[in-house]
Amino acid sequence: MPAHEAAGPPHGPARTGAAFHAVYGAGPAGVWAAPGRVNLIGEHTDYNDGFVLPLALPHTTLAAAAPRTDGALRLHSGDAPGGVVEVPYGALTPGRDLGWAAYPAGVVWAMREAGLPVGGLDLHLDSTVPTGAGLSSSAALEVATALALDGLYGLGLGRQELARLAQRAENAFVGVPCGIMDQTAAARCTTGHALLLDTRDLTARQVPLDLTGHGLRLLVIDTRVRHALADGAYAERRAGCERAARHLGVPALRDIGYGQLPDALDALTELSGVRPLVRHIVTENHRVQEVIARLDAGEPRAAGPLLTAGHASLRDDFAVSCAELDLAVDTALAAGALGARMTGGGFGGSAVALVEDAAEQEVTAAVRTAFAAAGHAAPRVFTARPGPGAHRVA
Ligand code: ADP
Ligand code: MG
Repeated sequence: MPAHEAAGPPHGPARTGAAFHAVYGAGPAGVWAAPGRVNLIGEHTDYNDGFVLPLALPHTTLAAAAPRTDGALRLHSGDAPGGVVEVPYGALTPGRDLGWAAYPAGVVWAMREAGLPVGGLDLHLDSTVPTGAGLSSSAALEVATALALDGLYGLGLGRQELARLAQRAENAFVGVPCGIMDQTAAARCTTGHALLLDTRDLTARQVPLDLTGHGLRLLVIDTRVRHALADGAYAERRAGCERAARHLGVPALRDIGYGQLPDALDALTELSGVRPLVRHIVTENHRVQEVIARLDAGEPRAAGPLLTAGHASLRDDFAVSCAELDLAVDTALAAGALGARMTGGGFGGSAVALVEDAAEQEVTAAVRTAFAAAGHAAPRVFTARPGPGAHRVA
C-alpha cells in the first residue's frame, strides 16, 4: 500500500484532493469513499441466491473526481503504477486491456449501457483496502467510482442500483464472474452493524454487531497469499452449484431447505462430484440463520462454533481453503479464539477469528509465530469494527 505508508497527511479527503490537483492541475468537484468488507459468515452463497452477513471495514477507497464535457476518461490511482490511463470518448468497450483501470472504466460503461447520462470523468483513487486479500478492494473501487458519478451527474441512484451497476462492471467489463455481496456491502453497510443480505430479492437487515460491548473483537488475518487456482476454482464451483440446482429442479440451491438436505443428496448420487458443494451451500445458509439467532439473542460468543463449522465445510466440502488459511484458523482456535474461519473466495486471502479482548495479543502472536515457523510471509492482523458504507467525504 504505497500511498498510505508514504509520508505526508494521513489517508483522507484532503490528501486525495491534493493528489487529484497534482495529477490534473485543478481541484476535484468532490471526494467519495467506499469501504472494503469482511464477511462474517455466508461464503459462496451469493451466487446461489442465499444469505450473506458482511460488515464494512474501516479501510476505504477514496475517489476524487471531476466531470468532463468531452466524454473522455482519465483514470489515476495512487496504488497502481503507470500514471494516468486515458480512454477517449467512443473507445469504451469490454475486452480492452485496461489493467486496473478496467474497474472504474467498467462502471462508466455499465452506467452508459443502462442509458444513464454519464459524461466524461477525471478520477484519482487512494485506498487503504489491501488488494487481492479477499477484503474486496475491487468493489470498494467500483462503488466509490459509482457514487462519484452519481454525484457528479446527479443520477439519483439508490444504493442497490449502485451495487448492481458496479457488479455489472466487474462481470461484463472486467470479466470477473463475482456475485452481488461485495458491491452491496460497500454500498449498503452501516456503522455498528453487519448486513444480513438475502441475495435472491436483495432485501437486507442491519444486524447490530456490538462486539466491543461484549468484550469481544473480530480479528482479520490477511495471509498475504493468493494461489493461482483461485479464479478457475471459483468458476468450477459456481458451475457445479448450477448443475446441482438444475438436477434437483430448483432455481437455485437456496431453495433446498436444511431439512431437505438428506433427500437432495440422495437425489444426486449420479452427480457425486457436486454433493459436497450442495452440502456446503445448504448448511452454510443454515449457519447464517443460526449466527443471526445468536446475535439477536445477545449471545455473540455462541456464534464462534458456527464460524468454525463454516470453515470445516469450506475446507472439506467446498474445497476452497489452503494451507495458510487452515494454519491461521487452527492456530487462532488453539490459542483461544471462540471461532475462526476463512472469509472471501478462498485459496488465500483472509481469515477471521472471534476472540475475547483479553486473548487478542495471544492469538495474534500465536498466528505470527506459526506462520514464521511454517516459512510463510508474515500475516497482517487487525481488528474489524463495522464502519459506514459508501458516502461523500468532501
Ligand atoms: P479483492 O477485491 O479481494 O481485493 P480482486 O482481485 O477482486 O481482489 O481485486 C483486486 C484488483 O482490483 C487489483 O488487482 C486492482 O486491479 C484493482 N484495484 C483494487 N483497488 C485498487 C486501487 N486502489 N487502485 C488501483 N487498482 C485497484
Ligand atoms: Mg474483488
